[in-house]
Amino acid sequence: MQPAFPPFLEGGGETGALIRSIDWKEHPLGPVDQWPPGLRTVLGMVLTSRFPMFLFWGPDLFCFYNDAYRPSLGKEGKHPQAMGQPGARVWAEIWPAIKPQIDQVMQGGQATWHEEQFLPIYRNNQLDDAYWTYSYSPVRDETGCVSGVLVTCQETTAWVRARRDMEEAYREKKQILDRISDGFFATDVQWQVTFWNSQVEKITGVTREVILGKNLWDVFSSAVGTAFHTTYLEAMRNQEPATIEAYFEPLNIWVEETVYPSPEGCSVYVRDVSARLQQEKSMQDLSEELRKKAADLQVRNEELEQFVYSVSHDLKEPLRMVNNFLHLLDSRYARQLDDRARQFIHFATDGASRMRILIDDLLEYSRASRLHPELTTVDTAALLQEIIRQQQPLIQELQGRLLLESVPVVRADRVRLAQVFQNLISNALKYQEPGNPPVIRIGAADRKMNWEFYVQDNGIGIETRYFDKIFQIFQRLHLREAYPGTGIGLALCRKIVEQHGGKIWVESEVGKGSTFYFTLPK
Ligand code: ADP
Repeated sequence: MQPAFPPFLEGGGETGALIRSIDWKEHPLGPVDQWPPGLRTVLGMVLTSRFPMFLFWGPDLFCFYNDAYRPSLGKEGKHPQAMGQPGARVWAEIWPAIKPQIDQVMQGGQATWHEEQFLPIYRNNQLDDAYWTYSYSPVRDETGCVSGVLVTCQETTAWVRARRDMEEAYREKKQILDRISDGFFATDVQWQVTFWNSQVEKITGVTREVILGKNLWDVFSSAVGTAFHTTYLEAMRNQEPATIEAYFEPLNIWVEETVYPSPEGCSVYVRDVSARLQQEKSMQDLSEELRKKAADLQVRNEELEQFVYSVSHDLKEPLRMVNNFLHLLDSRYARQLDDRARQFIHFATDGASRMRILIDDLLEYSRASRLHPELTTVDTAALLQEIIRQQQPLIQELQGRLLLESVPVVRADRVRLAQVFQNLISNALKYQEPGNPPVIRIGAADRKMNWEFYVQDNGIGIETRYFDKIFQIFQRLHLREAYPGTGIGLALCRKIVEQHGGKIWVESEVGKGSTFYFTLPK
């Protein structure tokens, strides 16, 4: 038959039942009905409380606890044998830490409060790291002496861990956001700044100590009403990201800001783009300057070509007169003159005829610059045959050979294209070692967007360093006595080819020959 228990031991769930099942007669506390009133009162309260409580009682600090406390003891640990056992045995692993606290209460009678105290506990077959927030309160017996310590406690391990994880996550997030090269900050819906990374500190000069927790628009009051302010408000209202690039006067910088709104607030990426804009601006200035210079140069060039044209034109008439009179002098007075005088007339006539050639070439060159090409369909095979026919006497005299390979029909200015071929062919015949019979090959290759023509010779060749120079006007590589010429021919060819939208260049090897290439768009 079950012994009857006094009312203070009724109920109490699992732990209540545990106390009742213990044979207290064998225990130093003795039978339950002889327990001191203080112990009965407080144990009755502990067992019926829904708050986790633990009681140390008597000089041996016998342990009691309730159902609410029970989960903290875990499985395979102190429960159920801890009930009624001396504290030193139950809490051996932390006794050195808690015994002084218990003594303090037992001796001083003052309650203590400990928050998130780290006190590992043996449970679940292992020593578990655990945190506790607890209070020790003295429990007095009927004589008024402190006979026990009531522990009201809450295990805060889960909470401490969660807070630590959160702090860790926050630290990680902060580190990431601090490392990104953009400025970054966040606010809540009230515009209170919740995050401010070091990059945005640098850009704005405002430190996080100053701004965290403050209203963004209080700190940057001068931005209220500006485009920035409007963009932020609109982004929040529409809950749509928005980007703004504008001059931020208070800091004298250009910034690009992207606002990402959310119902909790907004995140903002800030980039100082002053340097980029400065660079863009100086590039723009530079290209504008270049454009002006190019236009200026164009005008001057046109003026110069106009001048060359009129001077050459005006020179033709007096030159013709000089020539005519030299002829007259020679035909009428030659017999009255001595050999030396006749030689002088010969030199003068030679000079005048060279001058005529130079003026004609110059006129050709400036005419090509002044007039736009008249594009027609040109059968280059027919055109080249005509040119070859004209050059035939010279080719025969030099015992040369001219091989015409397949060439296309193109859109070009017929007269000017003829000038290009004439110049290239006559150079190919001219720039030869004396006595070397010229072999010239003319043809074209299909290059998808263009026709690529070539005029190849077996002449003296050109040094690589002169490949560009020879296309400039008056640039010659030889003395007039060795190879006559004005130095205008290739410059004229380049002008004509470029007017047609093509390119001209040379490949050559000294002593082996040269190939001149030029393209015409299809
Ligand atoms: P010119 O023939 O009146 O001197 P060009 O403008 O036609 O003027 O040619 C410029 C220079 O390029 C020539 O003086 C010559 O030195 C070189 N050159 C042109 N064509 C050839 C070629 N086929 N072989 C070697 N040199 C050439």
